[in-house]
Amino acid sequence: MKAIQKRKLENIREEFPILHQKINGEDLVYLDNAASTQKPKAVINAIKNYYENDHSNVHRGVHSLSVRATEAYESSREKVSEFVNSPDKDQIIFTKGTTDSINLIAGSLTNLIEKNDEILITAMEHHSNIVPWQELCKRTGAILKVIPINDNGEILIDKYRDMVSNKTKLVSVVHLSNTLGTINPIEEIIDTAKSYNAITVIDGAQAAGHLLVDVQKLDCDFYLFSGHKIFGPTGIGVLYGKEDILNQIDPYQFGGEMILKVTFDETTYNDLPHKFEAGTPNIAGAVGIGASIDFINSLDRDLCHQYEMSLHDDALGKLEQIECIRIIGKSSIKSAIISFVVDGIHPHDIGTIINQKGIAVRTGHHCTMPLMDFYGIPGTVRASFSIYNNHAEVDKLIDAINLAIKMLK
Ligand code: PLP
Repeated sequence: MKAIQKRKLENIREEFPILHQKINGEDLVYLDNAASTQKPKAVINAIKNYYENDHSNVHRGVHSLSVRATEAYESSREKVSEFVNSPDKDQIIFTKGTTDSINLIAGSLTNLIEKNDEILITAMEHHSNIVPWQELCKRTGAILKVIPINDNGEILIDKYRDMVSNKTKLVSVVHLSNTLGTINPIEEIIDTAKSYNAITVIDGAQAAGHLLVDVQKLDCDFYLFSGHKIFGPTGIGVLYGKEDILNQIDPYQFGGEMILKVTFDETTYNDLPHKFEAGTPNIAGAVGIGASIDFINSLDRDLCHQYEMSLHDDALGKLEQIECIRIIGKSSIKSAIISFVVDGIHPHDIGTIINQKGIAVRTGHHCTMPLMDFYGIPGTVRASFSIYNNHAEVDKLIDAINLAIKMLK
């Protein structure tokens, strides 16, 4: 097979129209990529083209537009399936995003979880991988347990091994922490969980855009992510599930599309994936995520990772030189996310001042309040890098932080 030539990253920034603007009179420096990535023209154009030429409702329509919209929707499912190496495209369910995917699982598993069963999550989870399980526990009487981490922001894997038991019914872990940047040893976590027949759920919201994901190799039961964090649109997300478990669990929303036959007495559900996609789906969103996957596939992913990490290492080295800064999240295996606090200054104040210099970072608890409690801080300043950032932007960030500290100290 002929190898496809992957594009290099030079000029990649030119493909992102939003980056070419001034904020407060300064060039925009967008370092909030963990919250949401910006969109390349290819994704914007795919959505525009879909609405200008192909839009109609999907499935069962006999007219040409409906056939075209269905083909576009299902071909995106195929792309997602290949992207995570799913054995079959029907194991890819389109959702609104990672949060929606986790809610779908937690809402659908009720019949498999019993009183006193244990559900394990880690201390670094996003609220969307905490609250749905708390609610499932309320409904079923199951018990939520938290795998601890060390000060570097790494899971205490020995403690985890001690916690897993025959009572463990589900283990749900973030692949890459949005706050700490830690890349978790999910292979080991999944293997251990499987030895107790526990269901495994991997929150890939941050990982899917930065790491190669192979769900067959991982052998997890569920893997989830959001379109908007992989250069795609908002409002579209992915739930990959193993076929047997998807067939065992009930749908959690009901209506059109998800049925095979309806009478006033009873309803039979549709096959996968439609059983979990009630109502008219986000067709344009699916087209957009398909285009974002094409975009990612056109790039050399190893090169992307190396480049992002070179920005991370540059920024980290320079931040560590600033005396009053404490880095939060020092795992030896991490991605291009840096969280930090400045002694005596609230993260929001830093964020507000550096915005005056055109720099967009996220400040606050990053939807990980229990993690903030662990570190005893109200929040952090978080800079997260993507392929369109550059080293000059790292220097602008450092200068702006130094200025903010001077003004606020
Ligand atoms: N999990 C992680 C690790 C995240 O970073 C996020 C979003 O920041 C989510 C889950 C929720 O994703 P979404 O808001 O797209 O549903």
